[in-house]
Amino acid sequence: MRLGNALPRSSPSLPQLIADKVARGILPSDKSLTLWAGHGSGRPCDACDKPVATTEFEYDLDLGGGLILRFHGACAGFWQSTTRND
Ligand SMILES: [Zn+2]
Repeated sequence: MRLGNALPRSSPSLPQLIADKVARGILPSDKSLTLWAGHGSGRPCDACDKPVATTEFEYDLDLGGGLILRFHGACAGFWQSTTRND
């Protein structure tokens, strides 16, 4: 059996990326925060850094103090499952 030390050159999967951002404190781990669904604005998603198209739903996470994170629907789902510990 070969245990490769080298990680694949491809980018990590979305759940891995989001879990990593939560672990590093880039994304919040507070699951009590409320997600608000709205229409995409073309601005980048804070989870995957790709723009949320105006044809897509955008999920806003209000951190207070004027700080709002934007997610795709899928990214919001992964964030919620990452922060759900029980
Ligand atoms: Zn995204």
